[in-house]
Amino acid sequence: MATTVAGLSSAEAGDATLRTALEQFHRAADHLKLPDKHREILTSFKTVYETEFPVELDDGSFRVFKGYRVHHNSARGPVKGGIRYAPMVSLGEVKALAMWMTWKCAVVDVPFGGAKGGVIVDPHSVSRAELQNLTRRFTSEIAPIIGPDRDIPAPDLGTNPQVMAWMMDTYSIQRGYTVPGVVTGKPVAIGGSEGRFEATGRGIMYVLAEHLRESGGLAGRRVAVHGFGNVGGVTAKLLTQGGAIVEYVCDRDIGLYRKGGLDTFSAYAHVQQGNALATWTGEAERVAPEDVLYADVDVLVPAALENTITAANASRVRAPLIIEGANGPLTTEADDILAERGVTVIPDILANAGGVTVSYFEWVQSRDFQRWREDDVNAQLQRYMVDAYRGVAGRCVVGADRCNLREAAQWIGIERVIEATELRGIFP
Ligand code: GLU
Repeated sequence: MATTVAGLSSAEAGDATLRTALEQFHRAADHLKLPDKHREILTSFKTVYETEFPVELDDGSFRVFKGYRVHHNSARGPVKGGIRYAPMVSLGEVKALAMWMTWKCAVVDVPFGGAKGGVIVDPHSVSRAELQNLTRRFTSEIAPIIGPDRDIPAPDLGTNPQVMAWMMDTYSIQRGYTVPGVVTGKPVAIGGSEGRFEATGRGIMYVLAEHLRESGGLAGRRVAVHGFGNVGGVTAKLLTQGGAIVEYVCDRDIGLYRKGGLDTFSAYAHVQQGNALATWTGEAERVAPEDVLYADVDVLVPAALENTITAANASRVRAPLIIEGANGPLTTEADDILAERGVTVIPDILANAGGVTVSYFEWVQSRDFQRWREDDVNAQLQRYMVDAYRGVAGRCVVGADRCNLREAAQWIGIERVIEATELRGIFP
């Protein structure tokens, strides 16, 4: 069984993640004085699907893999959320991530409920052919509960547009015709949306720019980005483009620092070509990856994994502003420690919602066989993200209650799901 950095088993780490999601919910529920009925409904999971399935490996042997797909809540529409391939995937983790998807979709007001899936596998430890076999078999296993009107998967940690292409193809072959709306994050050539690949990072950029608009904007802000995958790498690049000075980046092996800013375009292009960040030859000093979290900068973007900033290290964080690129990078205890010190946190369910927002645009295009131009996609994304930010920030200053952006986002998400639940009623 995989163990995490903190020495926890993947099941223990997943349970801790679920605890964080539930604590955040119950705090919001207390504030909103939610009746027990809603607490019970919103902390239950509509569908929990666990599957073990064999996959033939290149040498003719086979291995059994375990995967999950969880639907949290579908009051607002078909459920939506990524599929991750990682050694530390667990049921607790997938449930937490599914719940966060429910609030996230509601905060940006796209007509979806929340879901998440995952397979316990290190995608770098299998060949491309094995990855394809695993993806096709897992898709077949979850085929009864996914579909363009029911549950629409997307990429997440360890998966990518190619994996979505295999999922779409497998589902389509079973139906006998092409069903592009069954997944989002597909390659553009087969019905993916322009702008989807960079949408999460771009959404973070729009939210941060809006947050800083009245105090001078992005220009000249010194930033540290922890994580250099699809979220961290794109965010680093786009923040640089927006005038920020990205001084620190890291992946799991190495941290890089350059006073005055790194050439994040070059570093990201290098990683995109399949190379390790450690072999990038641009100008930078090497630091430990975790030092990036404690950097003396204006903005910290934790964009790697959940439970990155905990009670054990929150006091070492020096940035006065954190914008969450990853899902759940701060535990509730870390949140409290940082709030006490006056650190502002722009929460995941708002900050990283650009991915699912453009997934919504892709789903609309796929269902209608439309093609939107990239500048139109980006303009719409900006509108959704800015509206969502303003809604959350506006909610924060209403009334005399102690408030932070996470709580305000959580309140809005929960209220919208409850409104849908009340309008639909409980069947029968
Ligand atoms: N995996 C992404 C997230 O956590 C995107 C989900 C989607 O596009 O459905 O928000």
